[in-house]
Amino acid sequence: MELYAESLTEYKRLKTLEVKVGDLLIGNFHPIRIQTMTTTDTMDTLGTVEQSIRCIEAGAELVRITAPSKKEAENLLNIKNELHKRGYTTPLVADIHFTPNAAEIAARIVEKVRVNPGNYVDKKKFELIEYSDADYVEEIERIRNRFTPLVKICKEYGTAMRIGTNHGSLSDRIMSRYGDTAIGMVESAMEFLRIAESENYYNIVLSMKSSNPQVMVQAYRLLIENMQSELGHCYSLHLGVTEAGDGEDGRIKSAIGIGTLLEDGIGDTIRVSLTEDSEFELPVCENIVKRYGLIPTFSKGEGENKTSHGSVPPIKNISKLFPSLTSRVIRSSFAIQNIGAGNVPVVVSDFHKKNEILREDLKDIGYKYNPNTDKWNISDMASDYIFCGENAIDFALPGTLKLIYNYDSWKSKDDKTKCFPIISTQQYLDDSIEKSSLINFVILDYYSKNATEFDKEKFFEKIKNDNTSVLCLRTENRNAVQSIRRMFVELNEREIKNPAIIICDSEKETIDESLVHFAIETGALLIDGFGNGILLSDHYRDKSQLPDYRLINSIAFGILQASRTRISKTEFISCPSCGRTLFDLQETTAKVRAVTHHLKGLKIAIMGCIVNGPGEMADADFGYVGSGPGKITLYKGKEVVKRNVPEAVAVEELIGLLKENNAWVEPELAHSF
Ligand code: SF4
Repeated sequence: MELYAESLTEYKRLKTLEVKVGDLLIGNFHPIRIQTMTTTDTMDTLGTVEQSIRCIEAGAELVRITAPSKKEAENLLNIKNELHKRGYTTPLVADIHFTPNAAEIAARIVEKVRVNPGNYVDKKKFELIEYSDADYVEEIERIRNRFTPLVKICKEYGTAMRIGTNHGSLSDRIMSRYGDTAIGMVESAMEFLRIAESENYYNIVLSMKSSNPQVMVQAYRLLIENMQSELGHCYSLHLGVTEAGDGEDGRIKSAIGIGTLLEDGIGDTIRVSLTEDSEFELPVCENIVKRYGLIPTFSKGEGENKTSHGSVPPIKNISKLFPSLTSRVIRSSFAIQNIGAGNVPVVVSDFHKKNEILREDLKDIGYKYNPNTDKWNISDMASDYIFCGENAIDFALPGTLKLIYNYDSWKSKDDKTKCFPIISTQQYLDDSIEKSSLINFVILDYYSKNATEFDKEKFFEKIKNDNTSVLCLRTENRNAVQSIRRMFVELNEREIKNPAIIICDSEKETIDESLVHFAIETGALLIDGFGNGILLSDHYRDKSQLPDYRLINSIAFGILQASRTRISKTEFISCPSCGRTLFDLQETTAKVRAVTHHLKGLKIAIMGCIVNGPGEMADADFGYVGSGPGKITLYKGKEVVKRNVPEAVAVEELIGLLKENNAWVEPELAHSF
């Protein structure tokens, strides 16, 4: 093991205990399973059966159904029978919160039960209660007494269990001792695991979900380390980002959280939680999981589109790379203009394949020209640099935008104050050629099989104190995250503090796959504190068409937002909805988004029910939570500020609340297009 993974430099799955869920095997190197959850009322047998079938047809290998009370748990039998009657035997999972009685019924019916250790027996009242050691032990004993019957039923019926910890719903007891932390999340699960093991029950999957991918990744890593050191084995892991939201942002957030772990071989089953119809979650899961489809040959050098694969040396002194599993250590760098040090990561747009770059093309990357005023309107998601390749730009640029050219094109420019060259390591080492006195972008790739040889010692010696050179890290290896991370490690080892941009190329078949690819390959590095910028390059699938520059720009800013490295828009934390949901979550999310999307940096939660919503919305600034049919309760942080507001006026009330708290900006005063 290397810290929390089998390897941090080559793709190797983490060995986990095998779990049997009906006929489906999870963990122990079985394929990564994909799953989803229904959003129907569990008492609506036909509705739930039909939605389950749509999910199964879309690829779900497990279907989770909420069982908030005994009657829904009992109705799982009717749902299961009807599915079997129609020829569908996909395992079902009962989702339990608060009601051990429902769990004990469901465990006799379905193939798996999911319990949340934060609310299975413990309470969450948002009160900071002091627990003495004796009180704490007494509480654990109470949990043992309440949880053991479920374990015994699962053992008897061959039912699997997920102990699913959520960052937002840690119990008051855990919060009082560990706070709202990854350590608290791990301990919460470990308490339940110890009880299960004392009953010799091992058919368990674990999860550590959060709406913040950084917290989620840290919690899984810490959990693995704890399981290995305390138990000597690792349980299968279910990965997911909770309340990821919808659309592009929900997909990016999920891909970053889930993909960061999968890249290191961690994760046996995944769910992408979107505020959309359940069946739409499955294609995203598939796009994530298919990256690992060639697992047996991956580490031996076979790639999807690449027949060669360079080897990446192991990391020595790993503890230096990750001094703490529960905090993010940002790589130290100096600044070159607006890149590196305390600057937010920059976005470089790749226009090098355009035949001609026109003024109106800049609209796709956040700059809109107004001919009447001869001024540029600059959005919060405006790219910082354009990589032009050989293309000339013959109009005056917005003040904040700069250009990057291939070397010969750059050399031919008369005015070099706003344009800079991109060069190879060999060109960098060639003292006879002209360089920019401001910025030189130097491509660094020495792990790809076909990377050109260069004198590494001389290169690093020269660049170390060169405050004009920004590194551009890229690789052709399939284990790109590990390869580029290894380069960052070497920079750290050599104490090279030049800022570094991550270049990510995609040759995927569809833009949906490219989104997942970009999010994983750059997001996984950003959330570990590596990278002072990103350049996403989507290669033509259809040679007659250009990439969708607007979408790629939006993906780039979405990745920076989800990795919480550059905030450029409102963050929406919305639950995927389930049988408890008290309003049309998709429609409401759209309504709230329409009026608040310009509030850069604000985190707004839209949650379907008052039972789980307030706990699950974790670090939202404001919350819009269903509290009864047609009733909404509004929150400021974790505090209720308006109770049971009629749904018809709830969005206006939310705006009123934002105004009262100086969190509102009139849309026309915000940067928008
Ligand atoms: S917060 Fe949303 S997904 Fe979670 S239980 Fe409530 S309605 Fe269901």
